[in-house]
Amino acid sequence: MNYNKKTVKDIDVAGKKVLLRCDFNVPQDKATGAITDDKRIVAALPTIQYLLEQNAAVIACSHLGKPKGEWKESLSLAPVAKRLSELLGKDVIFAKDIIGEDAKAKAAALQPGQIMLLENLRFDKREEKNDPEFAKELSSMAEVYVSDAFGTVHRAHASTAGVAAYLPAVSGFLIGKELDIMGKALDDPKRPFVAVLGGAKVSDKINVINNLLEKADTIIIGGGMAYTFKKAQGYTIGQSLLEADKLDYAKDMMAKAEAKGVKFLLPVDNLCAAEFSADAKPVLAEGNIPDDLMGMDIGPKTIAAFSDAVKGAGTVVWNGPMGVFEFPAFAEGTKAMAKALAESGAITIVGGGDSAAAVEQLGFADKMTHISTGGGASLEFLEGKELPGVACLLDK
Ligand code: AMP
Repeated sequence: MNYNKKTVKDIDVAGKKVLLRCDFNVPQDKATGAITDDKRIVAALPTIQYLLEQNAAVIACSHLGKPKGEWKESLSLAPVAKRLSELLGKDVIFAKDIIGEDAKAKAAALQPGQIMLLENLRFDKREEKNDPEFAKELSSMAEVYVSDAFGTVHRAHASTAGVAAYLPAVSGFLIGKELDIMGKALDDPKRPFVAVLGGAKVSDKINVINNLLEKADTIIIGGGMAYTFKKAQGYTIGQSLLEADKLDYAKDMMAKAEAKGVKFLLPVDNLCAAEFSADAKPVLAEGNIPDDLMGMDIGPKTIAAFSDAVKGAGTVVWNGPMGVFEFPAFAEGTKAMAKALAESGAITIVGGGDSAAAVEQLGFADKMTHISTGGGASLEFLEGKELPGVACLLDK
């Protein structure tokens, strides 16, 4: 996969109509529809402002929620247009449809330096089907396509990949940064390259482990997924999470790591609980976990060993919490890893989704080199999969 893609700076946009795919999939209050977190809109501003400064006419588009091809007033992008207008300090013209009469008329009248927003792309079921006719209609309003929604690059939808068949396609600053930092970590990492993986399920991370075994110097496994590996090593794991059908896989991976000389670190002690509850009393277990307990977090010896492995790293990629960090009594392991990354001096990359939430919640967000804006997308990136929304962009 080539991550070296043209960005908005490599193409002339002056006076041109630019179709800009944003990620305006913001959380909203269920009762009032008010936007409860505008981080994604704020994150889109640098690309938008650059395009407007270059005198482009910007036709922004996004999905919001999961309307599944149905017109749902509660998922209209109208509140996003309003918030974007407040943040930009200028009018955002809002189209009442996507590729209909209103959108086309407003796009045709759009002047350089002006911005408009189309209605929710997923109100039309052809968007997620990557329907060529829909993509063609969408692209017919513009002369250049700029993709800046990293959260959807792993999807081949009309607005994330299909339109690139009809328009010169480049990345905005958000995707540019993701490709730059994560692409480099995978292609040519500063070594030692340490991968820290956690979260609930082995099955979610199988392809990531497979890919990283070819690239990393050390793989650290924590979280609920670690117990399947511990069981495969012959330890008892009590009531901890287990994916029995992945035991053979776990054995294979550990054998492969050994054969390749990749260090493979697992927890040596665990904070356990008798029940999965925030109020459960933490009980420390070294080695084996008693029958009536479940592993909820990594223990102090493990924290020390994992932190030590991160300390000398050149690059650290982290995806998945070390324990049930949502419960304060079992958040120490995740917190300690965030701290270890923050103090490592390494290039630190945190995958989206739960790990990004954990790092933010625990107050270490500004200490990381990069926190990916896409959960599923960053996971597929680490899997080494071809991302349709990246593959469709022009090579540098
Ligand atoms: P993932 O979405 O796969 O990254 O998993 C994140 C979830 O894994 C979080 O909600 C954590 O609470 C959960 N998790 C982490 N460690 C454990 C554990 N030891 N037992 C159960 N769940 C866990």
